[in-house]
Amino acid sequence: MHKTASAGKSPKQVDFFRHGLGLDALPAVGEVLESRFITSGSVGKSVERDLTKFFGASHAFLTNSWTNGTIATLLALGIGPGDEVIVPAMTFVATANVVELIGAKPVFVDVDSDTLLMTAEAVAEAISPVTRAVIPVHLYGQMCDVQAIRQALGNRNDIIVIEDAAHCFEGSYSGTLPGTYSDAAVFSFYATKNVTCGDGGAVITNRDELAEALDKTRTQGMTASATDRFQKGRYQHWDMVTLGAKANLPDLLAAYLPSQIAKVRDRLGERERLAMRYMSAFENTRIRTPSIDPQALHARHLFAIHVPPRVRDDVIGCLNDRGIGVTVNYLSVPTLTYYREKYGLAPEAFPVSVDWGQGTLSLPLFPGLRDDEQDYVISVIHKDVVPMLRGS
Ligand SMILES: *Cc1c(COP(=O)(O)O)cnc(C)c1O
Repeated sequence: MHKTASAGKSPKQVDFFRHGLGLDALPAVGEVLESRFITSGSVGKSVERDLTKFFGASHAFLTNSWTNGTIATLLALGIGPGDEVIVPAMTFVATANVVELIGAKPVFVDVDSDTLLMTAEAVAEAISPVTRAVIPVHLYGQMCDVQAIRQALGNRNDIIVIEDAAHCFEGSYSGTLPGTYSDAAVFSFYATKNVTCGDGGAVITNRDELAEALDKTRTQGMTASATDRFQKGRYQHWDMVTLGAKANLPDLLAAYLPSQIAKVRDRLGERERLAMRYMSAFENTRIRTPSIDPQALHARHLFAIHVPPRVRDDVIGCLNDRGIGVTVNYLSVPTLTYYREKYGLAPEAFPVSVDWGQGTLSLPLFPGLRDDEQDYVISVIHKDVVPMLRGS
């Protein structure tokens, strides 16, 4: 399927990412094709049971993306215009966009200079009388200390915590999994994520009343899903009791998930091994990586490095010229045109995120990246990139 370089020769091209799905997924998809419903039905329900077991959560809802799942969650909680939601400045735009889309205001906080994660202290400082939610992001796969963030809210029981666990399906903090100390944790099954079905997501929660509301806000606010409406061979009337999103995941896509969920913890060992090979290769260079909290089991979703901002784009060009795929995760969100112009935010308010955003690039890291491919990336960095970093 994928091109492989002949043994012993330097690969001329290293992809940034290659998914791990293969034709062995076809029987599960074939079963959906032979069933009556190809949209959300029994396959999704069974994956939702798998998710509640995996995370030890009371409820799980499959969604067609992290974005729509989080919108459905915010709608279920009645968050909207006039409300503020605290989000980190170093994240993917979706974390802030969901807040904008429901008409609330994202309040950006800078991240920790070592771990690049949202801190309890920053959250405590950003709380206002109209704060209704906080969305910590487990950046690159390293979990935040959600319990500390929860404690920083003090007696503000009206503020809910939603974890952006798009990067952290298989990670943990102090042995606790996403969803443990929050009101909800939301995952993404987008094409490049550690568990994927092309596009998809899931929300887990231990709160019964939130689950009951989410069941409706995931499907237009309707009282019965399509499958339920036709279930008993008799048409069932439905009502719309609240405003909801269109966020359900079809069984056609849910069918790709069980085999990956079963394997994801085993595959983490390979991600960790590759990350460690990069780390030891970059010791004694000016390449920086986020520090890892000893309490964290890192899900190793992305391997992001930092070089002096003045050479970052040259480094990207150099790696691309040598056939190596890289991306930038991420530019600081409040400095992007839409947010900067709408809220008049100054980069000086987010020094850590802005500097990281100007100096970061992510290297190939995925199970299936071969050692000779990674060795090629490392050799190009030593030979061509490290000299560019001198004297800066
Ligand atoms: C991918 C990603 C999202 C959005 O996920 P979708 O499933 O594409 O909506 C949100 N937050 C972070 C940190 C992400 O990386």
